Amino acid sequence: MKFAKRVLQVSPSATLALSNQAKALTASGVDVINLGVGEPDFNTPAQIKAAAIQAIKSGKSDFYTAAVGILPLRQAICQRLKQDFKVDFRPNQVAVTVGGKFSLYALGQILLDPGDQVLIPLPYWVSYGEQVKLAGGEPVFVQPAADGFVSVAQLEAQRTAKTKAVIINSPQNPSGLVYSKALLTAIGNWAIEHDIMLIADDMYGKLIYNGHSFTSLIELGDRIRQQTILVSGLSKAYAMTGWRVGYTVASPAVIAKLGVVLSHATSNIAAVSQYAALAALTGDQAVVEAMRQAFEKRLNTVYPELIALPGFELPQKPQGAFYLFPKVAQAVRIAGFNTTEEFTAAVLAEAHVALVNGAAFGMPDHVRLSYATDLASLQEAIRRLKEFMNKHQ
Ligand code: PLP
Repeated sequence: MKFAKRVLQVSPSATLALSNQAKALTASGVDVINLGVGEPDFNTPAQIKAAAIQAIKSGKSDFYTAAVGILPLRQAICQRLKQDFKVDFRPNQVAVTVGGKFSLYALGQILLDPGDQVLIPLPYWVSYGEQVKLAGGEPVFVQPAADGFVSVAQLEAQRTAKTKAVIINSPQNPSGLVYSKALLTAIGNWAIEHDIMLIADDMYGKLIYNGHSFTSLIELGDRIRQQTILVSGLSKAYAMTGWRVGYTVASPAVIAKLGVVLSHATSNIAAVSQYAALAALTGDQAVVEAMRQAFEKRLNTVYPELIALPGFELPQKPQGAFYLFPKVAQAVRIAGFNTTEEFTAAVLAEAHVALVNGAAFGMPDHVRLSYATDLASLQEAIRRLKEFMNKHQ
């Protein structure tokens, strides 16, 4: 088979591959603790499922909907943004998509011409660069400063006449870092000055810990908001990864173009998922807070234990999302391996703990651990890692 060049230059999702490997080991009877997962371990809250069941029973979910989603859901998204950020959006500024992932994919399709560049801060979520390539664009990765964030100067150093957009993911997957209002404002003003689109991936915006606050680019005044395309979704905050509900919020013109792509690519997302999402956004938000508190407790328990492991470096405690992204170059060396890949393979084979190699996020000296798993398993995983390091020293 002669495949298109477009697809030949794209790698499969490394996090999904790891997860499959861990699942295969588990299926063969091995007690694997999988810290590779990028989804909450909680089930979708009961009230959300009940609304979905009701939609099925009443026959409401039996038909195609508008490609950009049912109006009540788009209204509910506007209301939530109003409550959370005090900003006004209209339903014609919202498109519901198959997860935030397809929002980002479709944005590539409507924004990028061949050779257009998209600035992507390191470390990055696995799909950004590949989606840009699938759209014919060129991902340009930007090194962060010592504090883990990219500065305006670092973005400016990579800007060319072909720079079309920058993706700002806060809280960031995999680092868990949350951009400050001051830094977002500076980046926003720089983007306006050079007419670069800001793509704000706020997927983890509800998962913020230990009193830190979250700022979205959409709340930094009219000018920055007009320059911003917001991508978010219900997967992480509402434990709804399987329902595949994401959304884009932008100008009516952007949403209209997105609607064209959606109408030819997916039509609508499953109608039943839209009714579930409507219940999630309009129902009691205490369910989100309960899960946030559970993640916070896990972070606070596991972080000190993780940085006490020999050669695991993570000076800045994450403030959001549900990942830890330590630098492990020292640990790899101490344990006698040459590469992080060899190290994570040995950890999986001997300690039965699945970690994701940092190469998947553009930083091969790191590994990602997800704490979206129960506390007892997390502590057992740390115990196994400690034992592994002791054995190999
Ligand atoms: N953005 C980030 C940073 C993510 O980590 C993910 C999921 O892992 C997504 C977007 C897409 O999530 P979904 O497609 O489930 O909405």
